Amino acid sequence: MTEKTIYELSQPGRRGVAFPESDVPTADLPDNFARHSLNLPELSELDVIRHFTNISKLNYSIDGGFYPLGSCTMKYNPKINEAAARIPGFAHTHPLQPIVSVQGNLYVMYQLQEWMQALSGFHRVCLTPAAGAQGELVGALIIKKYHDVNQNHKRVKILIPDSAHGTNPATSSMSGFEVVSLPSDDRGNVDLEALKAECDDTLAGLMLTNPNTLGLFDENVEEVINMVHEAGGLVYGDGANLNALLGIIRPGDVGFDIMHFNLHKTFSTPHGGGGPGSGPVGVSEYLAEYLPSPIVTVIEEGDEETPPFFGFYHPENSIGRMKTFYGHFGVILRAYTYIAMHGAKGLRNIGEKAVLNANYLMAKVKEDYVLPYDRTCMHEFVVEGAWDDVPDVHALDISKRLMDYGFHPPTNYFPLIVHEALMIEPTETESKQTLDAFADAMKAIAKEARENPELLQKAPFTTPLRRCDEVKAARDLVLCCWIPED
Ligand SMILES: *Cc1c(COP(=O)(O)O)cnc(C)c1O
Repeated sequence: MTEKTIYELSQPGRRGVAFPESDVPTADLPDNFARHSLNLPELSELDVIRHFTNISKLNYSIDGGFYPLGSCTMKYNPKINEAAARIPGFAHTHPLQPIVSVQGNLYVMYQLQEWMQALSGFHRVCLTPAAGAQGELVGALIIKKYHDVNQNHKRVKILIPDSAHGTNPATSSMSGFEVVSLPSDDRGNVDLEALKAECDDTLAGLMLTNPNTLGLFDENVEEVINMVHEAGGLVYGDGANLNALLGIIRPGDVGFDIMHFNLHKTFSTPHGGGGPGSGPVGVSEYLAEYLPSPIVTVIEEGDEETPPFFGFYHPENSIGRMKTFYGHFGVILRAYTYIAMHGAKGLRNIGEKAVLNANYLMAKVKEDYVLPYDRTCMHEFVVEGAWDDVPDVHALDISKRLMDYGFHPPTNYFPLIVHEALMIEPTETESKQTLDAFADAMKAIAKEARENPELLQKAPFTTPLRRCDEVKAARDLVLCCWIPED
């Protein structure tokens, strides 16, 4: 690392502030009340500003450059969302305040529930799940409880296509289901024969990521849903990547029973780095009483003079609480602002432009990279990051080299059904110039792979840290690189 730690920059006696002479008498404290040496770094104000500004620039960010990390929908997060989240009347509320004092917050939550219902075609939406994966867990627990209530104890099996997001099998097995993987056919759809073979009376349900992790919309989605329903199973839709569908289709209308949405992808709230997310869950009418509580509801209808009075509702067969209090309100507020700013037409335009951008970029990238499923894509596409004629170059090398060209790498080695996968999602917020520049970099790298493969294998050259041991970095996390001496 080129940056020194703040302790290494410290100079004895250097100060950032000068306090005035004390105008009150000093008091003697017992010796054991205060430490004599605090071992704090000593720096000027300028030293501190430079230090933090410099380290903030070591991180790559969506505000700093193109971030085509597939499945993560790294779109621009409008700054007006941040302004809304910082309005003191919202930012300073406490979850234990009496509801009469937080009617504005409840209005925002109620309206977002209504909007999510209108957008998705589901009967009721619960905002509490803390992230997409927790929304999935809610869905799997609802499927389980539904079969339990109906005395269907034999239904222990959840089907998951091999093109699903990795969290789908994880949340299903955490809920106590037996996970059965379904193969994809040669167009990247669920293999209908394999599905048919699993449709028996042990079937609890199917979890379908659609569009799937290949960026493809399942062409037989209605048939898939009907087959599962006829066998007595429920269909969970992983709606983390709703971006391509916004204003175009409503999953509830197609027959999905349950689905989660990632506010921190489609609805532009910042994500990454482990910050708070939000994964609201929508359900069909017959499952409304299974949702986690609480759900915001109108307790007293308003009229021309008085606004409605909002409160909470606890569904009768609820799977229980998933989260303390009411979910991540700051994220809910940002998504509310985003939807309010765009309106119905604007949201549809987002869906259309996300798909257009992905197809434009795919058409350019496939000139130099193998595209295993050559179909119109949705919000993203997956190419192979390897070529038969350069066996020593891998997807990881291409990704590392992209960093030298100033781009964040795509998602690597996922989905598992594509050899050396590079999963690329441009989102609607990128301009044609940015997409062209990225496509040019991909082209230049394909050329370098043949002319100078070492360049790729040794990349990156321009980043603060060169190639690191990623397994060690993840397993052996060192969060403090400087340990004080005493
Ligand atoms: C991101 C994502 C998830 C998980 O969402 P988190 O908020 O990260 O838990 C699930 N499914 C798909 C398809 C995703 O892209």
